[in-house]
Amino acid sequence: MNVPLILPEFLDRAVSLYGDKQAVFCDERVFTYYELNGRVNQLSHGLRALGVEKGERVAYLAPNTVEMLEGFYGVFQLGAIMVPLNIRLKPEDYLFILNHSESKVLLVDQDLYHLIIPIKEQLETVKHIIVQYKDEQTDEVDYEKWLAGYPSGNFDRSELDEDDVCSLLYTSGTTGNPKGVMLTHRNNYLHALSTMHHLRVSDRDVYLHVLPMFHVNGWGSPFYYTANGSTHVCLKKATPESIFQAIQKHKVTVLHMAPTVLNSLLQYYEKNKPVIEHNVRVVIAGSAPPPAFVTRVEQELGWEFIQVYGMTESTPLSLVSTIRSELIHLAPETKARIKAKAGYPMIGSDVRVVNEHGEEVAHNGQEIGEVVTRSHGVMLGYWKNPEATMETIRNGWLHTGDMGTVDEYGNIEIVDRKKDIIISGGENISSIEVEGALYEHPAVLEAAVIAVPHEKWGETPHAYVVLREGAEVSEAEIISFSREKLAHFKAVTGVTFVKELPKTASGKIQKVHLRNEYWSSKGKTERFV
Ligand code: ATP
Ligand code: MG
Repeated sequence: MNVPLILPEFLDRAVSLYGDKQAVFCDERVFTYYELNGRVNQLSHGLRALGVEKGERVAYLAPNTVEMLEGFYGVFQLGAIMVPLNIRLKPEDYLFILNHSESKVLLVDQDLYHLIIPIKEQLETVKHIIVQYKDEQTDEVDYEKWLAGYPSGNFDRSELDEDDVCSLLYTSGTTGNPKGVMLTHRNNYLHALSTMHHLRVSDRDVYLHVLPMFHVNGWGSPFYYTANGSTHVCLKKATPESIFQAIQKHKVTVLHMAPTVLNSLLQYYEKNKPVIEHNVRVVIAGSAPPPAFVTRVEQELGWEFIQVYGMTESTPLSLVSTIRSELIHLAPETKARIKAKAGYPMIGSDVRVVNEHGEEVAHNGQEIGEVVTRSHGVMLGYWKNPEATMETIRNGWLHTGDMGTVDEYGNIEIVDRKKDIIISGGENISSIEVEGALYEHPAVLEAAVIAVPHEKWGETPHAYVVLREGAEVSEAEIISFSREKLAHFKAVTGVTFVKELPKTASGKIQKVHLRNEYWSSKGKTERFV
């Protein structure tokens, strides 16, 4: 009989091989793998005592803490479904997700509890709220006291099956309303195996949680670093300063982050030149287009850079940029070019770029098509939304809504989201390419390019720009700079200077908001509304 591919095995492995090792640093607290496992068992026993049954939903609203990390394993071994909530939402969003997911228990960090108070009376299914470090003001259950009431001994997992759904993750909402993505133990297990291979995860690694564990960008790290007995460092609030401090203090070896955060880290480094001794071997960035400053990360910080691509619906990673870039016979310029691409399909993922007839595009780095994938990571479907599932998974292929090209080596480059492409005079313009050119301007800190209406061309590129501190530059100068760097039809035709860009919790720029604002201010409706 096959051994079921279930996630609690990862923690078992760490406990038996690395029981006494430091598993987690969280603020001033340290836990070994034995201790972590004991808390996980207490949590499963406690949730069972609250009446949580297999298949029922347990929601978490917490930043990167040991409580969040143990939450995954505590909920998983019970056969229940973890619903991690994004900590940057508004009370009404929590109301929607908690009711939509029909969650029974909510565990919430005390710093975030105030977001739940306004909606408490309207929660339809939540029977218990447990606050992680109870504020004296609240009348909810205190997590630590509650946990202490349950045994740390083994928990019976005989009912677990690899095809059970174990997590319900809501998408970023970059393009609209978030959707609940159902992932099984098997999805997560095989995805973790493949990721640990590509990222060369080992027991020597010290992983700094910069990306939120509640979101698919940081997803999987609680699994593949645990399975290998690496050490987790939880950072409740990630600022460039706290990141550099943690790197030094804990001898961090690996970090994952969104390109926007990596950008602010680099800015901070260039400005303050903090003296750091570090053991960082690699920094991994994904979730949004590759930053134009990749090479500076390697040159200035001395960290290897790996680009990854994926989406919630694929558990999440599908492409990594490690394989080809490591070929030693490639010239440095070729390596750099390849690194800036999303990469090569991961083990167990079949990723292709197809035209509107479903045929693969030529492998010449030119022809653009939609990125589709089938793999062990493809979701079971969207929660309570079979129509959206059928629209997204067709004939076994997950349609990503992202457009890309394939080069002669098989490397896939993401050109843009289908909805972000600018169609000007019948030509497709990648907003990512235009942003890349603007990032080369010394005054530009951040840039987002969107399609705006144009009488002659239909649409043209328009930039929203955040300037570096103290920098001054005119709209005309940015326009002429983009004309120097790009073919003229791709150059921006206007610039709006802003203090900040709208972003999701994981740092993705929400161009949909910029588009809506711009188009409605002109009394027009854009293509995708
Ligand atoms: P929503 O689906 O709710 O609009 P979202 O698509 O941003 O939000 P996620 O699943 O978190 O939700 O993000 C996946 C998307 O992020 C991909 O479809 C792609 O557009 C983008 N992305 C991820 N990695 C990369 C990358 N390396 N390069 C370019 N884009 C990327
Ligand atoms: Mg999406």
